Amino acid sequence: MMHRIAHDKHFLEESLADVIRVDSFTRSLYEIYLKVEDDPKASKYNLGFFRSDYMLNKEPEALRQVEINAISVSFAGLSPLISQLHQYVNNKVNPKSEFNQPEKNTCRSVAFALSKAWDVYGKKDAIIIIIVEEKTYNICDQKAIEIELFNLRPEILVKRKKFSQIDSNSLDGNNVLRVDDKEVAVVYYRTGYVPADYPNSSAWDTRLILEKSKAIKCPSIKYQLSGVKKFQQILTDKQVLSKFIKPDEGLDELYGTFAAIYLLKDSPEGNKYLEMGLKNPEKFVLKPQREGGGNNYYGQEIVQKLNEIRNSQERDAFILMELIDAVPISNYGVDSRSNLRSRNFAMDTIISELGIFGSILADDKLVYHNSEDGYLLRSKRISDNEAGIAAGAGFLDSPYLF
Ligand code: ADP
Ligand code: MG
Repeated sequence: MMHRIAHDKHFLEESLADVIRVDSFTRSLYEIYLKVEDDPKASKYNLGFFRSDYMLNKEPEALRQVEINAISVSFAGLSPLISQLHQYVNNKVNPKSEFNQPEKNTCRSVAFALSKAWDVYGKKDAIIIIIVEEKTYNICDQKAIEIELFNLRPEILVKRKKFSQIDSNSLDGNNVLRVDDKEVAVVYYRTGYVPADYPNSSAWDTRLILEKSKAIKCPSIKYQLSGVKKFQQILTDKQVLSKFIKPDEGLDELYGTFAAIYLLKDSPEGNKYLEMGLKNPEKFVLKPQREGGGNNYYGQEIVQKLNEIRNSQERDAFILMELIDAVPISNYGVDSRSNLRSRNFAMDTIISELGIFGSILADDKLVYHNSEDGYLLRSKRISDNEAGIAAGAGFLDSPYLF
């Protein structure tokens, strides 16, 4: 579905028109898209590594999609390690018990997808570069993937580079990308999804160079754009969704996972939704259009923000989403950031979020690889709104099947 959205130029343009008017970040991405879309020298391939996140809603009891992530998707590297850790701990406590976990090595899957793109590029000496933040916090997750790729395909050289380390003259006349004198086959972004990742205009210039190049990007600019939350909202209209997914491809099942999402356009309908949010803020989450984390509004914050934006174009930069009332579970959480010695561990009430990974390698005509790549479970205390692991709220977790 994400692939098809990304390749529908008209749909992309029409859907993003309102967003790019008010959101300069999405506009910058879109401008790059326009510059490279018809460039015959740019790579025609797209590599996507996506993660669709779900919560189990209480009433009716059903999975509801929280969002879909399209760039720098985290924790494929660490998810299998957490499963192993939980198996180990369980075995210590109760050696005889069976610990039934769905088996799927997400780390291997992403390494495999990257190697597949490298194969399609088809040059023995070409390398893969991972574009990393100026300061990387989630390095263990990234390194796990690098190591897995090495185990899988030791002949592929991987280098980590920041935007600032890519020369402005890295492209030759045929748009072949060269870094440290090596031809680049694949560019894997682990940054580039929030404005702070582009501290100056030269970071944007570098993004354009990478997108123009023959190297295969994970994700390509259009795959990244397909993750803008506006699409999630538009696709809650079943008629629109059916343009991208046919009944025999799971249209009804997919549709059944969607929570209600409303646009706050300056129109009679948009005004109705805005009033609805003001009246019952506890039933909704107010979210900005882009990916990134830690930007959502809840409860009284919604009232404040809606009042602030009601008379401005900024309304288009947000979606109002039905709050998923997740099934609570009792469990213990070990914070990575707290001082473990000083903490008394007590049973907490937590809610969990299941992420399903998937990868795709395709051009506008053919799909070369398309697979479901396993899961990530994250949990958080019910009192915490955001599940940002890096922000200190929430835990990596693993499912137990029974
Ligand atoms: P991003 O990760 O891009 O900031 P998300 O849509 O994933 O945005 O929202 C961040 C977190 O907020 C989610 O991980 C989830 O815990 C919570 N959240 C988001 N949408 C909802 C919702 N509709 N109902 C309940 N919780 C939500
Ligand atoms: Mg999220």
